[in-house]
Amino acid sequence: MPRSLAAAAWGGSAAPGERAVAGADEDSLTMAVSAALNALGSLPGGVDAVFFASTSSPYQEKQAAATIAKVLDLPESAATTDVAGSLRAGTDAIRLALDAVRAGSAERALVVAADMRVGEPATPWEQLVGDAAAAVVVGRDDLAATLLAESHGYREFLGPWRRPADLYVQSFEGKVESKLGYEEQLAAAVRATAAQAGLDLAQVDRLAVSAPDRAGLRNLGRRLKASDQALDYLLLDTVGSAGAAHPLLSLCHVLEESATGEVAVVAGYGEGADAFILRVTDRATARRPKASVADLIETGELLHSYEELLEARNLIKLDPPEPKVSAVQYARDIEMELPLKGGRCRACATVQFPAWRICRSCGAEDSHDLVPLGRAGTVFTFVLDHLDRGRYLERPVPRLVVDLDGGGRIFLEMSDGDPYSVAVGSRVELTFRRMHGPHGYGNYYWKAEPPRLSNGAAGKGS
Ligand SMILES: [Zn+2]
Repeated sequence: MPRSLAAAAWGGSAAPGERAVAGADEDSLTMAVSAALNALGSLPGGVDAVFFASTSSPYQEKQAAATIAKVLDLPESAATTDVAGSLRAGTDAIRLALDAVRAGSAERALVVAADMRVGEPATPWEQLVGDAAAAVVVGRDDLAATLLAESHGYREFLGPWRRPADLYVQSFEGKVESKLGYEEQLAAAVRATAAQAGLDLAQVDRLAVSAPDRAGLRNLGRRLKASDQALDYLLLDTVGSAGAAHPLLSLCHVLEESATGEVAVVAGYGEGADAFILRVTDRATARRPKASVADLIETGELLHSYEELLEARNLIKLDPPEPKVSAVQYARDIEMELPLKGGRCRACATVQFPAWRICRSCGAEDSHDLVPLGRAGTVFTFVLDHLDRGRYLERPVPRLVVDLDGGGRIFLEMSDGDPYSVAVGSRVELTFRRMHGPHGYGNYYWKAEPPRLSNGAAGKGS
């Protein structure tokens, strides 16, 4: 969303650039799944631990890391942990993952951080915060970056906060919080870590750090005598301040742009600070995911109006009808629906979704194996639904029948993209989204979206 839309709605000045707004069918969990799938795409062998970090998990009681692990189809022996309650949760999760790998309780740990904090309308927070997720894998070998030193510490401080009943981020005077909290504590942690690594601050090429706003990041840079190129302003100008996910997102961005041998600092702030110093290896290019941070920023879809932000964040109540859900059905179908698996006939290899007892091709009975389905496909047919959940929509929801790559035909709703661009034969990719939240329970499933990258169609027929 261009920040000027919020300024135009309420008056006042607009901060430069845009902020990222998660769609109405997204939350921290679905964004985390997208980031994790992007991160793991190029990593054979998977992971045996998942740390999910967020201050805005869809649940206070119910672990999001377990849902994420299930969608990733990890074995149930994988260790799953939610880290919450602080903007430092993202770098806390990196520390926990490093400790787990060093102690030998995990071979390879996925750290995924996501945040969707809500800024109060008509305040600067509404323009500053951005919704985002980022994922990194911590392991022992074949690394994009190696750890040189780290330091951690807490400092009790009254900065931004949210109590369980608070919908919006609360804060005192921003300048004081930034100066005595963010800048002072983060700068001290970075200095201590550099000293531990035997490095002069001038030897640090990149800073991937928490950033509340442009002024805070600039002041931190001055304290650390960092060059402008070392600071990641692009994220603030396009995504916004992404809460617990910000240092990880900046790390991913920095790893995409750094040359071999460069030194990067990753640091997170929140009631104290964590700092890590890394050296980029010659494996960084090979470890890059399919979609880079720069790609995703470039291919984002612009909101058409400020009202879409209010609707996406559920700040206007529209009384949708409550669809029926069933805990029995959820338990029965979880193996098919979360990791997205279909049945492959043992007799004739036909793939079906859902996995029916009878093969529609050869009639074999109870003779299938559950297999992972392709995450991209081609539109077989579709309708544009103007009547969605009892509401007549100006922008219809496309409902698609998709032939998945590798077999299986599936009925999916379309999420992002121009509904009028859908055609028979269009390529789509699958994305994990929230369907609805009846009875306060989040129901997640797959939807389709147009390929984010132009090379998304390159895999057609392969
Ligand atoms: Zn068959």
